[in-house]
Amino acid sequence: MRKERIRDYRHVSWDWNGTLLNDTWLCLECLNAVAAQGGYPPIDLPRYRAVYGFPVQSIYEALNMPTDPESFRISSIAYMDAYESRRSECGLHAGAKEILDRLHAAQIPQSIFSAYPQDFLEAIVREYQLGHFFGQLSGNDSIFTNSKAHRARAHFSSLGVSFDDILYCGDTTHDAEVAQSLGIDCVLVASGHQARERLEPLGVKVVADFAELIRLF
Ligand SMILES: [Mg+2]
Repeated sequence: MRKERIRDYRHVSWDWNGTLLNDTWLCLECLNAVAAQGGYPPIDLPRYRAVYGFPVQSIYEALNMPTDPESFRISSIAYMDAYESRRSECGLHAGAKEILDRLHAAQIPQSIFSAYPQDFLEAIVREYQLGHFFGQLSGNDSIFTNSKAHRARAHFSSLGVSFDDILYCGDTTHDAEVAQSLGIDCVLVASGHQARERLEPLGVKVVADFAELIRLF
């Protein structure tokens, strides 16, 4: 963070899965369910947080599952079906709502820049009754990628403020790399899909959780 406080930025953009939404546990359960269907043994949470990343095929590789295009397509659909049927079991991370509220009260605009498919993103934000916090909800057009790089410039350019005045808050190395590629400040919360040790070397601010993030407000 180049600015001292979060409230010094003129726009805060959020990653959704793993950052605001506490869904790492569900993603792991769904992944293990897909693995079990193919006869592959499960992985535990530390292993998941050690291997999760971009591209998403790397996770299947870590489970020794096939990643040829057809196998990947079938696994992705099974995974998404499992996830979607249980997505309402997740909640926001502790403290996430508080910082959304504080930014809203300070009239600092917020948006979501996510790799979650656009229609699912719109539906879940509605379901969690958070729509009033966000001016833009930007999701992917496919369930088969977790990359955001191809959409980053379009999303951040649409916010109507200089890139210097935007803070992007995520939970993965990919989030930091996408922000850094545009010169946008990034803060990572290490309570999501990747272990803190993977986030530390990136040269961006890393916080343990929302309690620590709120102290930067
Ligand atoms: Mg995420």
